[in-house]
Formats: sequence, structure tokens, C-alpha cells
Amino acid sequence: MAERSLRGTNLSTLSLETDEGIAFSERQMVSYKCAQGHVIELPFSVEADVPALWECRCGLEALLVDGPEPDRKPTKPARTHWDMLLERRSVEELEELLDERLTLLRESRGEKPKRKRAAASK
Ligand SMILES: [Zn+2]
Repeated sequence: MAERSLRGTNLSTLSLETDEGIAFSERQMVSYKCAQGHVIELPFSVEADVPALWECRCGLEALLVDGPEPDRKPTKPARTHWDMLLERRSVEELEELLDERLTLLRESRGEKPKRKRAAASK
């Protein structure tokens, strides 16, 4: 005549009670895999909303194995050298630098330096 109590399943709790006669809420093992091939297995209650992403120990995002694609758009595209350059300099500054370099280049070739480069138009 076991008590039919539903016990919380806190994994960090150490208990000396036996599990005999105790009905755990149903669990499922969920696997995540990161781009480096690490596999993470976690128990979730079947009632839990299983996240599509988990942070791997290596810091990468691990995707739910056999899960739906996470419903977020692909992460921010990788920053290009151009992006990084624009974080340090405005396009105007870059135009100026380019002008300087072009003037030097033209002078070294014996060309007449132009006063102003035509503004770049898109
Ligand atoms: Zn990993």
C-alpha cells in the first residue's frame, strides 16, 4: 500500500529515501549536440517545454537532437573586416584617407594631384 505521492524530482537534493513506491512524474531524456560534436543529455519532465537550444560546456549553442529548428532567424552574420573598420572609422574618414593615399600615389606617378575626388555615389 504505497503512498501515491508525487514527489518533486530536484536533482540536486540528496535523499536517503528509497524510490520504492514513489511515482516520479514522467521524464524523458533529451539530447543536445553542439557544432563541435559534444552531446549533452538532460532529463526533462514530459510536461516541460523543452528548449530548442542549450548552451554547451564549450560555449557554443547546442541544438536539440531531432528537434525542430529553433524558431529564430540565423544568428547575426559574422562580422567582416569591413564591419570592423566601420566601427572605428566613418565612411567620410575613410574617403579622406583614401584621398590622401590616392594623392600620394598619383604624385609618385608624376600625375597632377586632383583637388577633390568626385563624391562616391551609390
Ligand atoms: Zn560543445
